[in-house]
Parts: sequence; C-alpha cells; structure tokens
Amino acid sequence: MLKICNLTKLYGDIKAVDNLSLEIAPGEIYGFIGHNGAGKTTTIKACCGIHQFDEGEIFVNGKSIKDDPIGCKRDMAYLPDNPDLYEFLSGVKYLNFISDMYGIPKKEREERINRYAKEFEIYEDLAQPISSYSHGMKQKLAIISALIHKPKLLIMDEPFVGLDPIASHKIKTIMRDICNEGGAIFFSTHVLEVAEKLCDKVAIIKKGKLVTMGTMDEVKGDTSLESVFLELGE
Ligand code: ATP
Repeated sequence: MLKICNLTKLYGDIKAVDNLSLEIAPGEIYGFIGHNGAGKTTTIKACCGIHQFDEGEIFVNGKSIKDDPIGCKRDMAYLPDNPDLYEFLSGVKYLNFISDMYGIPKKEREERINRYAKEFEIYEDLAQPISSYSHGMKQKLAIISALIHKPKLLIMDEPFVGLDPIASHKIKTIMRDICNEGGAIFFSTHVLEVAEKLCDKVAIIKKGKLVTMGTMDEVKGDTSLESVFLELGE
C-alpha cells in the first residue's frame, strides 16, 4: 500500500532523511518512532506529496507520488500533527469543502459527516466557526475530514496528541477497521505504550536513518518497545 524506496531528503546541508526504505502492506498498522528531529515528519510529508525529495521513490497503492500525485492523494489521507484548518468556515462547511474536493456524493457525505461527528462528539458544534473550536475539537474535525473519502492509506503524524480518551479509543478502532477492510495505516508517535499495543509493525528512525524495523514482536522481543527505544538512543 505504501512503499518508500531509498528516500533521501536534504534541507540545505542537513540530511533529514537518509536512504530510508520501508514497505507498509494492506492490513497493517505501522508505527513510526524516533527522537525529536529524527526525520519522521519529513518522511511523512514526502509520502503525502507535500515535500519534494532528493533521492528515492515513493509508491502509494502502486502509483508514484512523483509521477501521479493526484492519483496517490485519491487513495490516501494525511492527518498532520498540527492541522491548519480554515478557521473562518464552520465545521460542516469545512467537511463539505473537503467532500467536494474528493467528489463525494451528497447522500454518502451526509451519512459519513453525521456518523463521524456523532462518534467524535462534535455533532452539536458543526454549525459553529472553526475559530471557536478547542485544540481537540479541531483535531477531531481534521480526523473526520481525513476519513470522509474512505482512504485506503491513512498517514498520521502524532494522531493522539490533544485527543480525549474517548476520541483516542475511537480513532484506534477506526484504524483497525480500515485495516480489516484491506487498507493500511502509517503513523508517527511518541506514545510508545500505545504503539506497542496497536501496531502490527514498527520502524525506528534515528538521525534520518532506519535503525530497526519489523513486527512488534521482532523489534521488542521479550522487553518493551520503550526499552528497545531507550537502548537504541544511547
Ligand atoms: P519531532 O518528533 O520533533 O516532530 P521529526 O522526527 O518529525 O521530529 P523532522 O521534523 O522530520 O523530525 O525534522 C528532521 C530534521 O530536519 C531536523 O534536523 C529538523 O531540524 C530538520 N528540518 C525539518 N524541517 C525543516 C525545514 N523546513 N527547514 C530546515 N530544516 C528542517
């Protein structure tokens, strides 16, 4: 579903990502772990077609992000760590705008907006301007907008930051549902306990380079993901 081949990204002299290769198969929840500044967001933004990159290739559902960025974006959704929403719009207008972008028919979008807004407990707030939303409410709206076109690949940067426990639980259930329907999830997190419970596979990146990857059991063995991470950090 997502194939990253020998990705290298430079910011001037800084090699933010260094010859990184990863493959996320359908049905997998794949966690992406690393210190602050390790290169997670840079990798994620390259996968989503936001950042150009210097070397390598990225394929989304078999399509190249360089050659067919629109085709790739039809199949994926991206949830940034700090969603930048159009604050002057109401929640429902924003979701309709995103639905228009993906060409989602009226009946389907209404059904999805109503269902997700109720599940994430912002249904009553949809008519209010986004500028009046709390951080968590904005995060929930961004999640709904990412789910609205039923993406095959969901890429998320720190999805649990700022969410209340009910919303965190909900998004975890939705992640598993997407995978059960043949989709895949690639997400970064610093919450290692959550990653350990949730992920089928995990990759650890350090200073732009892949340090280890594999199934959760392969990576953590008899210890915890936290222990492995702390040892690799030394
Ligand atoms: P965090 O966990 O803190 O979000 P990260 O793993 O997502 O970190 P990145 O944001 O990908 O890390 O940053 C990787 C490296 O690239 C860092 O050294 C950072 O300073 C550098 N970097 C990121 N964005 C830019 C930019 N726009 N211009 C210059 N350097 C950048």
